[in-house]
Amino acid sequence: MCGISAIAGHKPVAKLLLKSLQNLEYRGYDSCGMALFDDEEIKLRKNIGNVNEVNAIEHFEEMKGHLGIAHTRWATHGGVTPENSHPHFSSDNNFVIVHNGIFSNFQSIKTDLEAKGYRFRSQTDTEVFANLVQDEYKAEADVETAFCNALNKLEGSYAIAMICVYQPDTVFAVKKDSPLVLGINDGVNFVSSDMNAFISETRDTVLINDYEYVMMTNDSFQVKRLSDRQIQTKQIIHVQWDRETAQKGGFSHYMLKEIFDQPQTARQALHIPSQEIEVIARKFIEKKQSFCVGVGTTYYVAMIGTYLFSKYADLYVPSISADEFPTLIPVNADQHVLFFSQSGETYDTRMAIRAATQAGAATSAVVNVVGSSISQEVDDCIFQGSGPEICVVSTKAALSQIMILWLIALRVGVLRNRLSEAEAEAQRKKLFDFSRLIEKVINEESGFIRDLAKKTSHVRNWLFMGRGIYYPVALESALKMKEVTYLHAEGLPAGFLKHGTLAMVDENMYSLFFLPNRKDVELYHATQMAIQEVKARQGKVIAFCTQDDKEVQQVLDHYFVIPETDPEVTPLVEMVMAQLFSYYSALNLGLNIDKPRNLAKSVTVG
Ligand code: GLU
Repeated sequence: MCGISAIAGHKPVAKLLLKSLQNLEYRGYDSCGMALFDDEEIKLRKNIGNVNEVNAIEHFEEMKGHLGIAHTRWATHGGVTPENSHPHFSSDNNFVIVHNGIFSNFQSIKTDLEAKGYRFRSQTDTEVFANLVQDEYKAEADVETAFCNALNKLEGSYAIAMICVYQPDTVFAVKKDSPLVLGINDGVNFVSSDMNAFISETRDTVLINDYEYVMMTNDSFQVKRLSDRQIQTKQIIHVQWDRETAQKGGFSHYMLKEIFDQPQTARQALHIPSQEIEVIARKFIEKKQSFCVGVGTTYYVAMIGTYLFSKYADLYVPSISADEFPTLIPVNADQHVLFFSQSGETYDTRMAIRAATQAGAATSAVVNVVGSSISQEVDDCIFQGSGPEICVVSTKAALSQIMILWLIALRVGVLRNRLSEAEAEAQRKKLFDFSRLIEKVINEESGFIRDLAKKTSHVRNWLFMGRGIYYPVALESALKMKEVTYLHAEGLPAGFLKHGTLAMVDENMYSLFFLPNRKDVELYHATQMAIQEVKARQGKVIAFCTQDDKEVQQVLDHYFVIPETDPEVTPLVEMVMAQLFSYYSALNLGLNIDKPRNLAKSVTVG
């Protein structure tokens, strides 16, 4: 998730472009660059560092031209190097592009283009698009056609902006599964990942849908549909946000913004190229034993993995909290350990990696920050590309890690002949459907969740319970509640309740049950039994259930309505709704949600 920006003006735009980069920096900040159309040529400057650091070297404001594109990067493919920074030229330097997203089939296209003689200057997935447009332009000398034809060959998630020497007054831009908006002003138009880029210049925006592309000059814009190149009528919307609200995407806190980012970041994670998934999946086959390791939220991510490997691959993969790993696991060279870390700097996880590496075990990781210590310390690493997570408590980074873990578990299932390719593909499709469903759920249910958080704002003690995969979801949700509200929230398996914790239950104890999808008949009934155990002791019970589940609703004090959905993804729907519940509970208590007391984003000490 990085930031893209393009401006078409009637006077020099370098200063405006630089400002747009500064305003987009919160989306990614490992490197940045700008390309402007200057005197029949495209000039490009880029480097590593944050916008001000790079500007001190590259002096962006000195660049000339009335048309330009800019980028602030959060790397997913290729390290943090000047060559991998955007914009990227085509081989002949006639096209230049910036990209936010992941091209999942870039490798095969790159191989084809290399065979045709195209040269590549970076390790990014992005650069293939620049060369592909050049190649298409060779076949038919029309920029719009070349742009559309190239897009039709690419899979994945993208927001792209492009300029080229053949149409020097036009910015081409397109979106699929990554954000893109237009900003309209007198004699200068903008296209960007979000309106932060241009909010100081104009508040008139046009929203772009997936599979729509834009052709924009300084005094006109046209939005067309990719499938048939038909013009789409668009309304100009006037937005009232102030700068600070705009930074948070219109949300009051980064936590809420990042919860709402999840449909997009989850999809981005699902577009991780299959070769990267394959490399890690094979280690689960090659090694005698594998472990999943994380700490805090990533430990619960790892635990969800244990359930996924068991379900899809018929394989027991223990999950261990990184801080316990070195003392608990007699690690050896026949083993493989898959680590999870948002920052890639987590001290406890690094110590676990050290223990695994010293014993000769194979190591791999899923991390969010390219170039981080963990990404360099393991044998293989997948970068999830969720963009900076600014709120201290993790939401979108964790969900993306679960998506990637899911893809790995499905692949291991195929490699172990427990799933057919078709079955694995059907599951993958369910995850894409889920990413669209949560968009709807968070939009439609957040008002209701906020009301329920208000009704329960007096509660000081919570039990969060689930069975099966709903158990790690309950644990993670309880952790979220503790982190942002400072309240006591204990996660436990619903079946465990009667073996001790039930003693605490009275009319003041509130329990939140992650009730499974009704199609998971056994798990559903087993969880319901625990609900009865609590009710029989006058405990208060809230649960997730579908609208028509009247039977269980009669017993509940309150409930969250979950949509009718596939049982496999229901636990994740509940996890996202529970994030919102924690957020609104903390909001009622007036707490510092984005920076909870005593916590730090990246725990680099032991
Ligand atoms: N995949 C591109 C890169 O690594 C864009 C990254 C992003 O959008 O986060 O350069």
